[in-house]
Amino acid sequence: MQLNNYIGGTWQEAGGADYTAVLNPANGKELAQVRLSTKEDVSLAVKSAKEAQKKWALVPAPKRADFLYEIGRLMKEKKEHLSQVLTKEMGKVIEEARGEVQEGIDMAFYMAGEGRRMFGETVPSELQDKFAMSVRAPIGVVGLITPWNFPVAIATWKSFPAIVAGNTFIWKPATETPMMAYEMALIFEEAGLPAGVANIVFGSGAEVGTAMIEHPDVRVISFTGSTETGRHVAETGGRHLKKVSLEMGGKNAVIVMDDADIELAVEGILWSAFGTAGQRCTACSRVIVHTDVKEELEQKLVEAMKVLSIGDGMDESVKIGPVINQKALDKIHGYVGIGKDEGAKLLAGGHILTDGKLADGHYYEPTLFTDVKWDSRLAQEEIFGPVVSLIEVSSLDEAIEVNNSVKFGLSSSIFSRDVNKVFRAQRDLDTGIVYVNAGTTGAEIHLPFGGTKGTGNGHRDSGVAALDVFTEWKSIYIDFSGKLQRAQIDTD
Ligand code: NAD
Repeated sequence: MQLNNYIGGTWQEAGGADYTAVLNPANGKELAQVRLSTKEDVSLAVKSAKEAQKKWALVPAPKRADFLYEIGRLMKEKKEHLSQVLTKEMGKVIEEARGEVQEGIDMAFYMAGEGRRMFGETVPSELQDKFAMSVRAPIGVVGLITPWNFPVAIATWKSFPAIVAGNTFIWKPATETPMMAYEMALIFEEAGLPAGVANIVFGSGAEVGTAMIEHPDVRVISFTGSTETGRHVAETGGRHLKKVSLEMGGKNAVIVMDDADIELAVEGILWSAFGTAGQRCTACSRVIVHTDVKEELEQKLVEAMKVLSIGDGMDESVKIGPVINQKALDKIHGYVGIGKDEGAKLLAGGHILTDGKLADGHYYEPTLFTDVKWDSRLAQEEIFGPVVSLIEVSSLDEAIEVNNSVKFGLSSSIFSRDVNKVFRAQRDLDTGIVYVNAGTTGAEIHLPFGGTKGTGNGHRDSGVAALDVFTEWKSIYIDFSGKLQRAQIDTD
């Protein structure tokens, strides 16, 4: 199976000479081939998106929303198929894949609702017989660059607000997960979305991503990926005066206080740390534990980790699937080595798994370190795999300080039954998302999603906040006095 670009409502073979193979991380089997696009392919897509945008911007927003309702309906109809493609391509277990597809469906219906809201403001003018209001205006052609770990949800967080607001888009999915983008293109086509509104160009970040950012007709870049790539995207976008929205890495922590429900904390940590094999931007990578419950938590976590089943995510009984590729496996194992060298104590895991059926895939054993120093590399850098570090603290203040010590600021969580501690924590934790008595994952689509410091640059995906990325505010003054009235001057 060869995947072609979707440009101007037609399937077009990319111009590049090179192909990449899409491999199932669970068993190494080839699923598809993708021909890599060139700068010229990006130009074609931008041309078609620019042409389409002129008409699309004039379609009333509730009518634009009708397409999203249809896209949501089709996603719902094909939910099981989409989930299975997702698991085969990316590796997350089928239950989580269904959850991710559901997130996309929710986003379709939610953003379709914005077609009848997208509120601006009407405000009193300081002058008589003058009317003032603000409206959200579409920006034009927007560029979407997405990672492999949520190959469909993140694309819907970006593309759905973009189109309901009257923009058209070029989407460059990660090279590891083009099949989900291909499936979405089929849905856009079936939903009857006008040609050129949605364009998908497959290819590398260096070639296709750069071409999108540098193209003068792409006005917004909405990027999700690593902090390293995000910095590069922002630098290039900055030189071209682009509006750049960045959602990047994380080093998220669960705080377990001495008054916590420990059983619940264990469940929350397991789900956040080892779900999606630790490859969520919101994955729990640190557990900040109060001295008085440290030993109990360690024992219970080790016990609970023993029963986590690892294997191909298509098997409904499996809880932890593979990591995306060999490079990721090497990186994770490298950090386990760093942890040992730094003097952290390995309580569980720490191995690449190669036995039996796992031999052909990329599997890492869920891993738990304790006695980790808050400022060590293990506790500060994003690993993006099933590795958790326990850090001991003796007070809430210290826990918050340790949580806030990393350069990232995506998600944090606190387990405590003391309302005073909980309220102080939600105020003082410096992340974009805070959970109380739940792990670090589980965002809902109608709230803003994003982080502070090295995780973001002030924008948000999801929720109404996403519209801020894909619209410009336009202030409109209508003077019906029949004479020249000068604001700030004609004040009597
Ligand atoms: P990545 O940075 O390697 O790639 C992300 C995307 O950027 C891909 O489509 C890639 O092809 C593209 N890209 C690479 N180089 C580029 C360049 N020079 N110019 C333009 N585009 C370029 O990230 P990844 O490995 O795909 O994803 C994992 C990372 O994403 C982790 O750091 C994770 O924390 C982060 N992430 C963040 C969020 C969030 O919302 N904050 C969500 C999911 C993932």
